[in-house]
Amino acid sequence: MPAEPEPSRKDLLDLLVAELNEHVIVLANKDGYFTTWHPGVERHFGYTAEEFIGQHLEVLLPPEERLKGDGPRELAEAAQNGRASDTRWLVDKSEQRLFVEGITIALRDQSKRLLGFGKVLRDVTERRNAEEDLRALASALEQSSVMVRSFDGVIEHWTEECERLYGWTAREAVGKNVYELLKTNFPEPLEQIERKLLVYGTWQGELGQACRDNRQVFVSARWVLLSDADGPPAIISTDSDITGRVEVQRELEVAHEKLQRMALELERSNEELAEFARIASHDLSAPITSTRWLVDLLALRHAKELDAEGQKSLKQISLGLERMADLVRGILTHAQVGRSAIGSSESTDARKALDTAIENLQRDIETSGAVISHHELPEVWVDPQALTQLFQNLLSNAIKYKRPEISPVIKVTAVRQGPMWQLAVEDNGIGIGSEWLERIFQPFQRLHGLEIAGSGIGLATCKKIVTRAGGRIWVESRVNYGSTFLFTLPGPDGSPRNDSRGESQAAASVP
Ligand code: ADP
Repeated sequence: MPAEPEPSRKDLLDLLVAELNEHVIVLANKDGYFTTWHPGVERHFGYTAEEFIGQHLEVLLPPEERLKGDGPRELAEAAQNGRASDTRWLVDKSEQRLFVEGITIALRDQSKRLLGFGKVLRDVTERRNAEEDLRALASALEQSSVMVRSFDGVIEHWTEECERLYGWTAREAVGKNVYELLKTNFPEPLEQIERKLLVYGTWQGELGQACRDNRQVFVSARWVLLSDADGPPAIISTDSDITGRVEVQRELEVAHEKLQRMALELERSNEELAEFARIASHDLSAPITSTRWLVDLLALRHAKELDAEGQKSLKQISLGLERMADLVRGILTHAQVGRSAIGSSESTDARKALDTAIENLQRDIETSGAVISHHELPEVWVDPQALTQLFQNLLSNAIKYKRPEISPVIKVTAVRQGPMWQLAVEDNGIGIGSEWLERIFQPFQRLHGLEIAGSGIGLATCKKIVTRAGGRIWVESRVNYGSTFLFTLPGPDGSPRNDSRGESQAAASVP
């Protein structure tokens, strides 16, 4: 078999050059026009051999540098110094930029005559991007309070921001145990945190730490476990200063506690006051009752022995005692309202409460010939006894403050107003002057004199009931036409209870 001819050194060199396609290795003539092509040209710059050969080497420069005359300058430098090297942005066929390390070598013959140029380029865009990312990351890290430490807390890296936050320089901090240096206060035991870190790889929480000048700061810390196959794991920790927020939160907590104490104190003193009123009115009732009994006995047995003046005085004493008993009863009721909660989680049928109030006032209704009608009434979240008391006070007033010669006509209605029910008790009585419309809800404010019996506490009790249930009460009135007392109460939505009787009437005929 004939021996295969040895490949020429030139062929081998060409093969080697073609294989180095992570580089671009090309030749240009002495005017700078490419005379060869290389697989790297297509790989990195996108040109085929036909497109590339004959192009001036300026074709690889970005347009602005072409205009500046960078191409001829580079050739002149290479011609003068034998070579010119540069690391710069070049562009490919589609004008995309590549970051390239390049060298241009002047090729001369033995008599130093310039034959052309050789150009070797290497695309380092990816490496450059990675370096840029790393630089950006490093600068971002420097601007955050980031520290790297061994798993047992020995500081390995300490950024400038850590220095700004804690006061210790990197030189002072590195090598020290972070928990001892910053006297860390953990929200849970460190062993527990470390266990979580090993299981989940991260931990987040709020820490109290001491600065170099012993100032206390609070940080929101995020720890990430850096596992290294060759060595023990480390922790990278980022701390954000939340001292301001924690201080405001603490001040708020203190203010809230103070407020709660004051509310308790107020409630206690209110209860004491109510208890005092209850005991006082209860204890006053007994002597009033016995005095009234004695006065009545005196009138029965000895009225004849008294002259007209004496008999009149006796009557006045009896009336005075009756008013005093009324007043004491009113104060007792007022004090008792609110001893139990007014608001109720179970709803009360307003219609039932009204019926009970009507029953309690039956005698007054009969005597006055009052006609009470009501439309459908809703369920409301108010204690049933309190609601009965509210209706009873309003109905009793509507009867008491009637116009002479005209029987009371009273209407009770309800409409939904947003989240509340608005109820109204309307009468055709004597009405109230506009200057009294607000005052009558205060205790002992009466605009009528002794001619109509009363304690002046009934409407104050109504206001207490409504306010405690979360509503409000007011009155609209016209003197000599009548008044409408309106109040709102919370209650479930839905139409008022369907009253099978429709509009019902309660008059002298109430069973
Ligand atoms: P009292 O009726 O025992 O005097 P209230 O607190 O119930 O006490 O009422 C306060 C005052 O408001 C009454 O004295 C009366 O002058 C006036 N008032 C209350 N309800 C009516 C009403 N329906 N019509 C006219 N005036 C009223």
